[in-house]
Amino acid sequence: AKQAYVRTKPHLNIGTMGHVDHGKTTLTAAITKVLSDRGTGAFVPFDRIDRAPEEAARGITITIAHVEYETGTRHYAHIDMPGHADFIKNMVTGAAQVDGAILVVSAVDGVMPQTAEHVLLARQVGVEHVVVALNKADAGEEELTELVELEVRELLTAHGYPGDTLPVVRVSGLRALEGDPRWTGAIEALLDAVDTWVPVPERYLDAPFLLPVENVLTITGRGTVVTGAVERGTVRVGDKVEVLGAGTETVVTGVETFGKPMEEAQAGDNVALLLRGVPRDAVRRGHIVAVPGSLTPRRRFTATVRLLSTREGGRRTPVTSGYRPQFYLRTADVAGEVALGEDGIALPGDTVTLDVGLDHAVPLETGLGFAVREGGRTVGAGTVTRVGG
Ligand code: GDP
Ligand code: MG
Repeated sequence: AKQAYVRTKPHLNIGTMGHVDHGKTTLTAAITKVLSDRGTGAFVPFDRIDRAPEEAARGITITIAHVEYETGTRHYAHIDMPGHADFIKNMVTGAAQVDGAILVVSAVDGVMPQTAEHVLLARQVGVEHVVVALNKADAGEEELTELVELEVRELLTAHGYPGDTLPVVRVSGLRALEGDPRWTGAIEALLDAVDTWVPVPERYLDAPFLLPVENVLTITGRGTVVTGAVERGTVRVGDKVEVLGAGTETVVTGVETFGKPMEEAQAGDNVALLLRGVPRDAVRRGHIVAVPGSLTPRRRFTATVRLLSTREGGRRTPVTSGYRPQFYLRTADVAGEVALGEDGIALPGDTVTLDVGLDHAVPLETGLGFAVREGGRTVGAGTVTRVGG
């Protein structure tokens, strides 16, 4: 039998973010290497984190890689967020679930467009705590590295983070992977910074269970499995659930985390749920597994939206009533139409209040964050301020 997951330490979800090629995946592999040497994790090599693009393109595997490890005080699920603009959608849905982020910035290259875009999105989707890994410190010149550190602190301050005080740790993922003690020590320092800077979040354990579906898999002989992070509440084998979107009720017949069966999954856990008698093609990413009757899908809402400026990769032209982008709400991707207030026009860079009518209903609530996308790029990020209307 598989070894069961034993909850001995608080569980947190963290993720790497930052510009492509600044070393997010290398750093992720290095963290697992250092912790496996310490005996509190399994080494996950670079090419197992950086999954083959064709797999991602077919959409059957997880396009954001999760690895798990433990420090002295915490159990972490670590998401290596893809840096490429095409994958911002996953950055958004992934970032929505992380309790903290490691912003990876190359000490050689400094702040780049995706660095800024990820910081902005992190802020918009409510990532409260950021630790900076100034990576490639093995290759950067001291003076330049100093400048890059100032630049990153400024960027974070400009987006409302405590840029002056948050930890910035100089690391080399590459050298740490090679086992160089100076740089494995730097990874330890980074993990200490994460342990101390990112607090254990308040988990809504008493709320009715809710899990936005990230992926659907079939396990031969066992049935359909959905994966995702529990947003709130708890779930156990035998619990009745509803799959919103699929319009079906079922029973949970298995609960696992990272391949280990667990007695009870809680808010914040990354889990796989086996669902009794649900056909594979009935469930999709974007559906929601919840306590039956606890949620009401809605189409209309009011929101505050910040449109990215053109320089941030946003639109070049204004938005007017009738504009029809895609809305990324939890893991769902829904088209909708926008109505603007009196002025009826919003420019890239503006923060506006607008009414949205989605093409189909999804569970909505005040405070829910979302991304606005069109033609494959993010053009805004918003928060639901009122449901209905
Ligand atoms: P990602 O796109 O942010 O995930 O970046 P990768 O982890 O794929 O790394 C991009 C490139 O930078 C690769 O060629 C790595 O070998 C190199 N790299 C990553 N970390 C370091 C580092 O600490 N030092 C040096 N010199 N190169 C690094
Ligand atoms: Mg990568």
